[in-house]
Amino acid sequence: MIQTRLSKTMTLFAIALAIPLAATSLQAKSKVHVLGTGGTISGAAPSPEMLSGYKSGTYPVADLLAEVPEITELADVTSEQIINVGSGRITGEILLKLSKRINQLCQEQPDIDGFVVTHGTGTLEETAYFLNLTVLSDKPVVVVGAMRPWTAISGDGPLNLYNAVRVASAPESRGKGAMIVLNDEINSAREGTKTDTYRVETFNSREYGFLGYADPDKIVFYRKPLKRHTFQTEFDVTKIDELPQVDIVYGYQEASRGSVDGLVAAGVKGIVSASGSPEISDALEDAQAKGVMVVRSDRKGQGRVLNSERRLEQGTISADNLRPQKARLLLQLALTKTSDPVEIQRIFNQY
Ligand code: ASP
Repeated sequence: MIQTRLSKTMTLFAIALAIPLAATSLQAKSKVHVLGTGGTISGAAPSPEMLSGYKSGTYPVADLLAEVPEITELADVTSEQIINVGSGRITGEILLKLSKRINQLCQEQPDIDGFVVTHGTGTLEETAYFLNLTVLSDKPVVVVGAMRPWTAISGDGPLNLYNAVRVASAPESRGKGAMIVLNDEINSAREGTKTDTYRVETFNSREYGFLGYADPDKIVFYRKPLKRHTFQTEFDVTKIDELPQVDIVYGYQEASRGSVDGLVAAGVKGIVSASGSPEISDALEDAQAKGVMVVRSDRKGQGRVLNSERRLEQGTISADNLRPQKARLLLQLALTKTSDPVEIQRIFNQY
């Protein structure tokens, strides 16, 4: 009797265990597509202890994925190489190629749940913001890099890549736009920024904080971006082959007007100022008179730049709280649509 009851209990226990297991194994794995662009995450050094003196963009992204077989347990992963370079070599042409490719895959392969882009950390936040502005889908786009080369002792690349795929396949990540994932931390593409040259905890979102975390048990979010992005964007780059030239000038004590005058002579369509000086201000006014669009940002990296009616009437635009390198990209995209300062200010207020 006891035996029978015990064996009945065991059978029930086994059934109870088997149901969730069966349910899990029947659940379709999510599909994630990884696009490689290079950076330290694919960098190789001559020996494992070398954390500098490595070559960025050495290994193809398919090799990185093959070295982390645990990723295949998370999702069905496909990959392609867009380019394999340090992030300082990423150009507008490459950004357009990357964005168009993701949009094309969204159309042609609707079963893909999310995208991962591997990238050098130096300009990673720029690419992430560009994708935030131009990918016309609510599917997660996760941009990932590493602070140590792939070959390093305790490299951060493998875990960052693993976590990026987790975030890209999590249903909770939908509708949050492009994100930056390193060091288990999820930043919004708009606010996330690199803050340290060497530490692995380099990316943060300053006063806005992380969107969430890739924790060991699950992907958790604590907030979501409110500014327009991805599926809410007005920037369709499908038919754009080239972005207008926009550069940044940096302000400091006694900054001369040379940088502005040089850019105007080189034919730029827009200038973003990261703070200024009296001479720079004069030069920017002259640049505006010649038809160059001027956006005022700030070198501090935190807080808004206010605009006044008078300044807007003169044609000067405020970047709100966008960092100069991101204001540059937004101005490039805005200039593909309009040269009306009021309309461009509207765009800066919304994105
Ligand atoms: N030099 C590298 C790059 O931006 C740095 C990195 O990837 O972390 O490509």
